[in-house]
Parts: sequence; C-alpha cells; structure tokens
Amino acid sequence: MHFPQNRDYTAIVHILAMALILFGCSGIERSEEDKIRRRNCKGEYIHRKHDENYCTIAPPAHTPRLAYPWEDHLPRITKEFFRCKGSSVNPPVLNQSDPANPVACTDCEGSSRHGLPILRAQQGVYPVLLDLLNHVQKSTGKRVIITSGHRCPAHNTYVDPSKENRFSKHQLGAEVDFYVQDMEKRPMEVIQIIMDYYKTNPQYKGQKEFEEFQRYDKSDVKVTTKPWFNKEIFIKYQSAFEGRNGDNRHPHPYINLQVRFDRDAKERVVYDWKRANLGYPRD
Ligand SMILES: [Zn+2]
Repeated sequence: MHFPQNRDYTAIVHILAMALILFGCSGIERSEEDKIRRRNCKGEYIHRKHDENYCTIAPPAHTPRLAYPWEDHLPRITKEFFRCKGSSVNPPVLNQSDPANPVACTDCEGSSRHGLPILRAQQGVYPVLLDLLNHVQKSTGKRVIITSGHRCPAHNTYVDPSKENRFSKHQLGAEVDFYVQDMEKRPMEVIQIIMDYYKTNPQYKGQKEFEEFQRYDKSDVKVTTKPWFNKEIFIKYQSAFEGRNGDNRHPHPYINLQVRFDRDAKERVVYDWKRANLGYPRD
C-alpha cells in the first residue's frame, strides 16, 4: 500500500485552502451582496412630472456643418470668366430687327478664335467688374455665375439682334450679366451688397457721387424695376421674364452691371464702334 509523502500532504492542504478561499468565501459574499441589492430594489417608486429635472439639460444647439472644400475656396473671378461664349456649332438664327429685310445671322467661332478687349495695352475687362463680383462672392460665400461677359460684335448680334443692343458695352468688356448660385430668388440682396461696397470701401470714402445711388427714370431700358446708378456703375435688375437673350436662357432673374466711368483713366465709358469692332485680337 502506498502512503503519500509529507510533501504531497502539504500540496493537498494548499489546494483545499485555495478552493475554500476562492469558492467558499466569495460565494458567501456574493449571495450577501445579492440580498442587499434585492432589498434595495424593493425601494419606493419615484414619481416625477415631465418638467421636473434632477439637473437641467441645456437645449440642443444647432451646429453648422463644416464647409465642403469647394465651398471654402470659391474661385476668384478673373477676366477669364468673361470670355465670349460664342460657338461655331450654334446654328444660324434669323435676324428680324428689320422685318422687311430679315437676314441670317451666324455666331462667332468662340473665344478660342478671338481674345478679350484691349484695355491699357493688355486684354481684359474693366477692373471694377472683377472687384464687385469678387466682393459679392466674399460677402455671400456663394458662387457668382457669369452668364454674359465680353461679347464680340458677331456674338452680340447673334444673342440679341435688336437695334438697342448694337451699342451694348458687353463689346467693350464694360458690362456683365450674372446671378448668384443659391441666391437666384434674392437678387435684391445682391444689389444691396454692391451698393454697400461703395459705402464701406475706403477708396470711395467721402465721395458722394460714388457712395450715393440714384434711380434711372427713363423708359429706354426695358425693365420694370428702375435701375440704380452712381458715377461708376449702372445696375439693372432683370426679372425672370425680362432680358432674355442667347446668353441668358436660364429661368432666373439676373443682374446687369455696366461701367459708366473709368476710375483709372478718369473718363466716361461710352460705346465706341472702333473699340468694339477692332479693339480685340482675332485669328
Ligand atoms: Zn465672340
């Protein structure tokens, strides 16, 4: 018969002691805790009204979403945005400005075949138009959509063959049609921003003829809203039913800006046949 050695007895005693500690004691404690927990769970009901709060919670606040990369970096308006929108694929249209003698009218071949008007020895448009449109973009955070910038004489006749349009300053780079994306129905706000530009810009400070706008009363402008003008620019509001032409086929109201005064050359800007027809580079 085999009797365990003393060393074996010691190991067995150790194992039994450990088992007693692990299972015996903790089991007793756990059941006591459960009893206490159950006793506490039998506690009284809490009755509370809908507007009683243990601690008040601040109402949720709206967090504006982060701008998408293209919203944060609106492209700066440059003279490139003003290039003539004529195209050789546009079909001929009938010019009926003289009903007795209608003629077929073709579009120009586009800005790849001719440049912008020459202003002070380089191609471009009047800088005040760039300043104003960039100011509108900066103030609104919205994109300015130029629907008609420079028009060469051929494209000018193609989009609107009426007699009045022959003297359009679009041909000189002194006129622009545009609207603001996401503000299509609020052009009056954009017009106010343009007028405020003259009040806040230090360049015009103290010069009433720039800061103050007048209304244009004559009936030769074909718009229902009286235009505004100061010494430098003329602002025309074209409703959704006015001013439609080949460049403005969209359904939105738009704003037409014309330069009246060249602040750098300090002279009036008027239509000039020679500048309109010969004052831009062509292939
Ligand atoms: Zn053209």
